[in-house]
Amino acid sequence: MSHPHEGVLGFADHKGPIRLSADVIVVGSGPGGGVAAMELAARGHDVILVEEGPAFSSSDFDFEAGATMRKLFRESCTRVMQGNGFFPTMQAIGLGGGSLVNSAISIRAPGWVLDKWANEHDTPRLGAGALDEDYAAVERALGVAPTPEAVMGERNLVFKRGCDALGISCEPTPRNVRGCKGSAECFTGCRNGAKQSTDVACVPAVISRGGRVLTSVRVEGVKSERGRVTGVVGHVVEPFTGKRGYSVELDAPIVVLAAGCMATPRLLEKSRLGVSSGHAGRHLLAHPGLAVCALFDHVINPFEGATQGYHSLHFLEQGMKLEVLWGPPAVLSVRFPGFGNQLKSHLVAFDRMAPFDVITNAPHSEGEVRGAPFGDEPMITYHLDDRDMATLQRGLVILCEIAFAAGARAVLPGVHGVPDPIGRDQLHLLRDARVTAKDVIAGANHVFGTTRMGQNPRTSVCDEWGRVHDSRGLYIADTGTFPGSPSVNPMLTCMALARRTARRISGEG
Ligand SMILES: Cc1cc2nc3c(=O)[nH]c(=O)nc-3n(C[C@H](O)[C@H](O)[C@H](O)COP(=O)(O)OP(=O)(O)OC[C@H]3O[C@@H](n4cnc5c(N)ncnc54)[C@H](O)[C@@H]3O)c2cc1C
Ligand code: SF4
Repeated sequence: MSHPHEGVLGFADHKGPIRLSADVIVVGSGPGGGVAAMELAARGHDVILVEEGPAFSSSDFDFEAGATMRKLFRESCTRVMQGNGFFPTMQAIGLGGGSLVNSAISIRAPGWVLDKWANEHDTPRLGAGALDEDYAAVERALGVAPTPEAVMGERNLVFKRGCDALGISCEPTPRNVRGCKGSAECFTGCRNGAKQSTDVACVPAVISRGGRVLTSVRVEGVKSERGRVTGVVGHVVEPFTGKRGYSVELDAPIVVLAAGCMATPRLLEKSRLGVSSGHAGRHLLAHPGLAVCALFDHVINPFEGATQGYHSLHFLEQGMKLEVLWGPPAVLSVRFPGFGNQLKSHLVAFDRMAPFDVITNAPHSEGEVRGAPFGDEPMITYHLDDRDMATLQRGLVILCEIAFAAGARAVLPGVHGVPDPIGRDQLHLLRDARVTAKDVIAGANHVFGTTRMGQNPRTSVCDEWGRVHDSRGLYIADTGTFPGSPSVNPMLTCMALARRTARRISGEG
């Protein structure tokens, strides 16, 4: 079997200035760009897919968290949204984008969410059922299926036992994997080649249809003439240093921006396209999340089993999704309390721990992404509303209840001002605490909304097919187009919308 990256052009292949033309240029190879490029190529378009980061093979992944964070993530994984708290947010840089490092959770947004988008966010053609065909096609292409029992491991199973004991519904997480070995290293990259990230599932399909895939090329602007797009410009960039090399100019009458919801509004701003509504870069939405670590008396070996194999949608309509969590110990343990012997006591108990997390759809919270006065990185602000913080607090309490129902001896709630750990009879301390955004470190890796869709060109950046209102030939196919929160993990919805955009460009639908 050939390597999935056969034919991909990398830094070493770029031996001079690049000048190419195509039918369509897709910028960014994450879930949105990867699917858009695959679907366009399948419909006979001559496609160039451009990615700023390099390609990573299974053998390039390093289980050491520090090395991974430096290589695979923007700003070496130190990116934060600033506001009334500290909100770390991770965006990958590499062929495959976020699909390279994510937990492969692939779940459709429920019909009631899409109806809400349709009714409240000016996207009437995106109501329940509108994405069914696109969801199904993407699920087939990426091998989406519920996590099998064989790769669950005890960490996922204790969550299920706790939910069952409390009558909280939960289910094996559907994921885009083929032959998952349950090695729990999705965050540092799948060394087993099982995860169907877009570099594995989409890039070979682009190349087999004659498409070209350029990595280590940063797009810096979209070219246009009298409101019609004519291509993109940029530079070759050295992997990991970002040092600029040869110039790049790509010509095409259609450009699909899928650089992610932090980068695409910046590209629009620099190109003076898609900005006439004044909404590009605004309305940044997120799923802030918090985790607890449950401490058991029996061995869990949390480093075994699918990274996030079980989840609960029981409280989804109340704004909460509950999940089993895993990540490298070096990442998870930054939230452990104390130092010296106290910290050591938590670290030596790692084999008996199970982390669970809650994310909220945060309907009352919003942020913004803007250009920084210096450098290329965006300035990101976010305000976590007290009502959404209260939802997270409630979620933490429920996670603790699940842990205790599963037999946990204690739980580390990770909230400033609440004892760490707490026993079952101390749960009221977490329930009754006055917790603000400043008392927690709420991570938010699900981000969207900065180039939102809508029918009205005065209040949105693109239409319901991702076509930018104020320019011809320009489309957006990343999570920036979401008009609201999907309430569940965003990747599959991003992919379904990207496929819909590709169908539209091809004159279907
Ligand atoms: C650790 C982690 C775990 C997650 N787990 C899940 C999960 O299990 N399920 C789920 O649904 N979601 C998950 N998410 C979220 C999900 O991965 C993202 O929502 C998704 O990747 C967004 O896709 P996108 O195409 O919009 O952007 P991205 O995935 O960010 O892709 C954008 C791509 O564009 C490239 N790019 C940016 N600027 C330029 C430029 N100027 N020129 C060229 N290329 C450029 C980037 O390098 C990147 O590869 C997770 C995210 C993280 C970080
Ligand atoms: S759990 Fe392991 S084998 Fe399965 S997709 Fe994640 S990294 Fe790959």
